[in-house]
Amino acid sequence: MPVTTPAAPAAVPPSDTALPQDFGALARQDPEIAGILQEEVLRQSSTLQLIAAENFSSPAVFAALGSPLANKYAEGYPGARHHGGCEQADEAERVAVRRAMSLFGAEHANVQPHSGSSAVLAAYAALLRPGDTVLAMGLPYGGHLTHGAPGNFSGRWFDFTGYGVDPDSGLIDYAQVRALARARRPKAIVCGSISYPRHPDYETFRDIADEVGAYLIADAAHPMGLIAGGAAPSPVPYADVVCATTHKVLRGPRGGMILCGAELAERLDRAVFPFTQGGAQMHTVAAKAVAFGEAATPAFALYAHQVVAHARVLAAGLEAEGFEITTGGTDTHIVVADPGPLGVDGRTARERLVAAGMVLDTCALPYGDARGIRLGTAAVTTQGMDESDMARIAALFGAAVRDGADAERLRAEVRQLTERNPPYPG
Ligand SMILES: *Cc1c(COP(=O)(O)O)cnc(C)c1O
Repeated sequence: MPVTTPAAPAAVPPSDTALPQDFGALARQDPEIAGILQEEVLRQSSTLQLIAAENFSSPAVFAALGSPLANKYAEGYPGARHHGGCEQADEAERVAVRRAMSLFGAEHANVQPHSGSSAVLAAYAALLRPGDTVLAMGLPYGGHLTHGAPGNFSGRWFDFTGYGVDPDSGLIDYAQVRALARARRPKAIVCGSISYPRHPDYETFRDIADEVGAYLIADAAHPMGLIAGGAAPSPVPYADVVCATTHKVLRGPRGGMILCGAELAERLDRAVFPFTQGGAQMHTVAAKAVAFGEAATPAFALYAHQVVAHARVLAAGLEAEGFEITTGGTDTHIVVADPGPLGVDGRTARERLVAAGMVLDTCALPYGDARGIRLGTAAVTTQGMDESDMARIAALFGAAVRDGADAERLRAEVRQLTERNPPYPG
């Protein structure tokens, strides 16, 4: 299929989000659920969303998500469906696929995976047999559940070995990756993580995979939006298969996608449908197309670069507050910080921060058993915050974690920040 430039919609400036829905009609029919949704809007509007995987999708994305395409059954692929009446569904999927291929320079795109995990499941299904050996980032270092967790299909059906990071630098130890690859002869090597704040060295991963005859799967769920905006290197030229989410920094609907070369296209498509999924969620596919269109604009490239710049300001500010920053900083939207020097571990730090209106995750640290905190700048950047706001947030972090008692005053300060840059204006 030729790679064509998508007809991109008008740029969506970072702060141009609006309340996605008028809950009036819903409130009349079902006040119980409408009340919950309204409370959630209030929660998102009055606290800081610093969970690295979260973002605010545009009203255009929500419009597609809430459209009647949600009612359409469309098993199969455009031009080869198991249901009638798929003309519009086919067109929507063709547009989404074309835009994804163009945006990421890929020979093939599958936009049907229901989630990032579904995308990874399909990639494994296409390339591996149960019992095969896989090398991926170890869970204590930021590997995702789908990278061999015992409670996940990946850990149950495949034989995973985890690589780690250098305990001093926090950086991936490529000599260790190569040694493990030589010793284990994996069928596939997975690069990508939930909390590694630096770019994987895709070229070195490719070299190691080639040396041992393994497939290289890049799980780029987190940085895919940065890649779209030119703010992070792309794994597409190096990996056999790239799995991603369309939410997170990419700012689209919740969902997954897979990119690969033409020679694996048919295997990947069959691994998604019919092997691991039934009917595609066509409203989500349409919303993915909208998000790819937005991500192709200069405004989104600016956004992606701002997200990284903001994470760097936040990392430097947290370091000044006494946090230890793993890898000494960040190249992405993710900052991983150890609050240990402030006398608490990640769980207590998160409790105090959430109480003060700053919502984020704990995460594993590359050394020892104590947990750290992981935060991301995708959502606060979408709502229009700037570098001075990031410096302010870092100061609030210090105050919250050091003396967690003053949560009320901090909440008021957080509200000042969110009122100046509301995620849902109006
Ligand atoms: C988020 C993420 C996933 C899973 O995405 P879901 O949509 O939550 O299933 C998989 N791999 C990595 C590296 C991720 O960050």
